[in-house]
Amino acid sequence: MKISEFAGYGDKMEQLMRSVQAGRIVHALLFVGPHGSGKRTMARLFAQAMVCASPHKPCGVCPACKQFLAGSHPDVKVVRPEKKSIGVEEIRALIDALSLRPYEGDKHIAMIEQADKMTASAQNALLKTLENPPGEVMFFLITDVPGALLDTILSRCQTVRLGDIGVELCAKVLEGRGVEPQRAALLAGLAQGSVGRALEIDGDGEWMALRERVLASLEALNGPSSVAAAATPLEEDKGGEGGILDIMELWARDLMAVQSGAAPYEASDAQRLDRCKIDGSALLRGVVLARQQLDSNVSWPNALENMYFQLTDSGKNGRTKLSWQR
Ligand SMILES: [Zn+2]
Repeated sequence: MKISEFAGYGDKMEQLMRSVQAGRIVHALLFVGPHGSGKRTMARLFAQAMVCASPHKPCGVCPACKQFLAGSHPDVKVVRPEKKSIGVEEIRALIDALSLRPYEGDKHIAMIEQADKMTASAQNALLKTLENPPGEVMFFLITDVPGALLDTILSRCQTVRLGDIGVELCAKVLEGRGVEPQRAALLAGLAQGSVGRALEIDGDGEWMALRERVLASLEALNGPSSVAAAATPLEEDKGGEGGILDIMELWARDLMAVQSGAAPYEASDAQRLDRCKIDGSALLRGVVLARQQLDSNVSWPNALENMYFQLTDSGKNGRTKLSWQR
């Protein structure tokens, strides 16, 4: 993969690379973005470019690139949480390694993945090194949660912010990776434009099967007497309630989009969305309420049935929150 091909961010990356080559950059980059936005991929591409010996970086074929890709480049150190957090010992070990002379090139590369998982003492240890590196070091910090980092660390890093690239571009990227166009459109929609998330869903057959069960359950709702039968298949998904509610939330957002005349994320399911007469905002409220109930130890079957009764309840003003066109 070439930097310019990094979907949606080629320009940003090339600009960054130029400023590094011109020496106009601080020696720490912080890659920030939501889960699946590609920040780790981008940081790795960039790190690879820094060790690559070819004029067209990163070439992917020179010995340095090959070592990097195999995870065996001697000047590249990667720290990631092996347990719940990254402790001060791990950061001290990194700092010790950085005080040795680089083997191959003129600088060390230090990557810290899920940097927000550093404990406070780990962050303080790192801070000293960021202020006063033992030698030539380029730091790459990667995080979903920059707010968990000390302000003093943030202020020493140049931030590279990645967002989701949008559903259309995400679908194109997936097609570029050989996903068949209609499936690419569906995956991109389900992942709301996050390539990483779309690839996760694509590789997770169970998720797609669960989604089908969730939609079938919602489609089986037809008045209060249908609640028990509609809910039963989902009640048996032990431990899967978080995933089920996430799928319902996506569906609710799409229903709201369709019902307000906007384009849904799951555009390839347009007919099914059209057929669905659940009020999107009522479903979204139901999801929020069910999560609250689960947090306060209401059982999953009860939370789900409460939601379904709410959705099928025609209410005092006689306005039906749900009905299905058959
Ligand atoms: Zn190379």
